[in-house]
Amino acid sequence: IKDVLNRALKESGGRTALRFKRKGVWCTYTYRELHARVRQVSEICATVGVKPGDRVALYLTNSPEWFEIYFGIVCMGAIAVPVDVKLREQEVGHIFHDCGVSVVFASAGSAPGLSELKESLPNLQTAVLLDIPPESTVSSANLTVLSYDAARTGLSELSAYEQHDPLPSDPASLIYTSGTTGRQKGAVLTHQNFVSNAASCQKAIDIHPTDNFLLVLPLHHAFAFTTSLLIPVLVQCEVSLVERLKTIKADMRDTSPTILLAVPLLLEKMLARMMDTISRKPTARLLYKAGLAKLIGRRIHQELGGALRLIVSGGAPIDPDTLRSWQKLGFAIVEGYGITETGPVLSLNPPEKPRVGTVGIPLPDVQIQIINPGPDGSGEIIIKGPNVMQGYYNNPEATAESLRDGWFHSGDLGFFDEAGYLVINGRQKNLIVNREGKNIYPEEVEQQIHKSPAILECLVLGYREPGESSGERVGLIVVPDQEFFDTMETETGRRFSESDIEQFVRAEVRQAVQSLSDYKRPRCVQVRFDEFEKTT
Ligand code: ATP
Repeated sequence: IKDVLNRALKESGGRTALRFKRKGVWCTYTYRELHARVRQVSEICATVGVKPGDRVALYLTNSPEWFEIYFGIVCMGAIAVPVDVKLREQEVGHIFHDCGVSVVFASAGSAPGLSELKESLPNLQTAVLLDIPPESTVSSANLTVLSYDAARTGLSELSAYEQHDPLPSDPASLIYTSGTTGRQKGAVLTHQNFVSNAASCQKAIDIHPTDNFLLVLPLHHAFAFTTSLLIPVLVQCEVSLVERLKTIKADMRDTSPTILLAVPLLLEKMLARMMDTISRKPTARLLYKAGLAKLIGRRIHQELGGALRLIVSGGAPIDPDTLRSWQKLGFAIVEGYGITETGPVLSLNPPEKPRVGTVGIPLPDVQIQIINPGPDGSGEIIIKGPNVMQGYYNNPEATAESLRDGWFHSGDLGFFDEAGYLVINGRQKNLIVNREGKNIYPEEVEQQIHKSPAILECLVLGYREPGESSGERVGLIVVPDQEFFDTMETETGRRFSESDIEQFVRAEVRQAVQSLSDYKRPRCVQVRFDEFEKTT
């Protein structure tokens, strides 16, 4: 990673690295400016006692400082531990404790929580806070608290950056998986894991120094880090930072990004906005209906800065209809697949030859195999390559379970279609095996149910009736979309009670699963009115 940054400085020092908004005004850093700030961070780390191999947490939301702090930590040989600021105190405590974080870079907002956490964290020595006045360098409860600005400006020399060059096989980050499948585990990702993955992506899609990446996903996640921070530095192009989702459209207009990496939810919301605008404008509505969607798309393209040439969706399955609707408007959009433990990108649809409903073909240097296929041809997806993590930090059992003979066992289920593109059915842990031994992928059933506009979210899961000891039945929990029923009330003048809504939703479900084989249809449906609780 240090080589990648040094090369960017040498070859593109004067070029814009980062574009960001401060107090409503767009500002930029060149690669030279970024590099100078990175060196300061390495020095701060050394000053507070960080040694190569020590774990340093980045407990921050996306900001320009995130860039310099990350590089500052890893270039002096320490290990960066990015932490989601939305995690609960207990979860943050688990991460800090698990890997023995000694220094944390954080914002003042998270500081009060830190003093409380400190009680149970003997290793934690120093917090460097970004947004406190320079004079407020204080110590509390054995935790030294420094102002980031004061620490940066008070440095007398800058030698720490040069003192140690990490090896490709040295860990660069511990990224804790989101924990949807259990207690959070720290994936140990090396410098080589990240750089090889960024390089593979670059080989798979043509990226130029003139590109401009829109960064909107949280950087503590491997997806955003590798694709929207590391690739741009590798290619020596520009990153435009959107700090608030609310302003994404205006920010795109201002910065003219060429590449947007996004998760399905963001693309669904953006599409819903666009379709809403189209439906409210009579001419646009007519053109759309007349099959001239591309004409309207051209206008939208201009409103989004006029330069967007590729959108990549990843991180979770995207509804093929969402993908098609974007394509219908003339946008180049493809789906990819990745996992934190693999750096993370594994496969991508080639932009010139995408296949909707697949996650594309394996990246160069990444091997993907399907093992133990069932009668339907799909089996567990396993992965080998320079992008695969070293293991889970301090967790030999979990490491031995997921890494066997150099292959990472993903727990995802899928198959290669006739054109060699990878299709993901779902996850092994979610798979429902019914009483006749037939496999049901909850994701497939959920996708059908999602087609109903009256349903906000749904979850398909296996269950057993009392007394049954083998096989599972298909169960469903659905949450109605309140907005949909509000609109219905306004339009029809009819009131919908909870039991009306429930009835309506049950009918929608019956309709939606019509296209599925009988054995895949839910036998028990629960309607609930609260949204599901989610991890970030
Ligand atoms: P945990 O591992 O703790 O459950 P997580 O699943 O959120 O957390 P991530 O590494 O963030 O961990 O997500 C990787 C998973 O996301 C993959 O294993 C896969 O199941 C799913 N995924 C990612 N991209 C796609 C895609 N395009 N289509 C289907 N599934 C995807």
